[in-house]
Amino acid sequence: MRDFGKMKRIIIKIGSSSITTSDLSINKNLIDFLMKSFLDFKKMGIGVALVSSGAIALGMHELGLKRKPKEMSLKQACASVGQAKLMEYYNFFAEKYNLKCGQILVNHDDFEDRKRMLYLSNTLDAMFKNDIIPILNENDALAVEEIKVGDNDTLAALVAPMIDADLLILFSDIDGLYDKNPKIYNDAKMIEEVSSINDDIKKMCGANTSIVGTGGMITKINAAKIVTTAGCNMIICNSNMIERLIDIINGENIGTLFIKNENSFTSREHWMIYKTHSKGKIIIDDGCKNALLNNKISILPKGIIGVSNVFLKNSIVDIVDKSNNILAKGISNYSSSEISKIQGMESSLVLSIFGPESKKEVIHANNLVILKEEF
Ligand code: GLU
Repeated sequence: MRDFGKMKRIIIKIGSSSITTSDLSINKNLIDFLMKSFLDFKKMGIGVALVSSGAIALGMHELGLKRKPKEMSLKQACASVGQAKLMEYYNFFAEKYNLKCGQILVNHDDFEDRKRMLYLSNTLDAMFKNDIIPILNENDALAVEEIKVGDNDTLAALVAPMIDADLLILFSDIDGLYDKNPKIYNDAKMIEEVSSINDDIKKMCGANTSIVGTGGMITKINAAKIVTTAGCNMIICNSNMIERLIDIINGENIGTLFIKNENSFTSREHWMIYKTHSKGKIIIDDGCKNALLNNKISILPKGIIGVSNVFLKNSIVDIVDKSNNILAKGISNYSSSEISKIQGMESSLVLSIFGPESKKEVIHANNLVILKEEF
């Protein structure tokens, strides 16, 4: 048995292959069961958010398409038809159990922009306070590559810390994490608990992508990294176990549990690492690297030996060593072109170039986060 303590909020992700049947029509029994369980959760004092895939798959069904369209705009049209259908069913079954649900559609930039993330967080909070079940999905009808989260395992993992979830459950067509690909090796064993996502764990993610879903095991492991470093547990399990949802949250050993880290990142650090895309790189020398890793010092111009990509001041950048290993992420006080003028200089000289009001640190220690492992 697993001991999750007293849980207040959980987040559940359902994949496209679970929400639809083999002919891509909606799995009504599943939605009915979910809403019935959410009523039980409400009685137990547990708030729940749902990340539901299925918009594109249902849209394909509605439009009579057998394959996922390659053309972006047709995929988006499918999503717009399918998302409306999806919510129709969620609302129907929510009403059956006297529950209320609301739709939230997001893209990556809703997380990357801290102000928008705050609005999103406030909306979610208001929904929980008013007993409304948030049903989230990517805004696929508008999503293009640059702004996409890309898969709902990651999306659920990005939302989990925002609602202070105690547990994220990813329901999919995979039983859990196996030590080798169970479709190929019949002696493959499922791992019950993972306490650290190390290289051995990453190696276990064989190609496991399903026909209609987007994520494979790798997106699930990445999701686990995102949530466990924010202090939230995560379980991967097969959606054919959904009838045992209450047993799962009561701690029965179903699926693979990824145990939360005790030393989790602060919410600002977590945002910088997982919710932002770096706009460029600052390359530092070995002296600066050692000081950074040992004492988390500010990055001064003197320790900088190069810069790559064009970025504006206040951009999030990677701090890399000479061999291009990413050591940290931070918010730069200077643009890339300003940094190329001052790299290697003493700070006093910098102040004489940009004026006494200018900052002597290119990145202040408070605005950087050291990456403890390869991200
Ligand atoms: N957002 C997609 C949809 O609703 C699914 C993405 C995923 O499968 O992870 O169709």
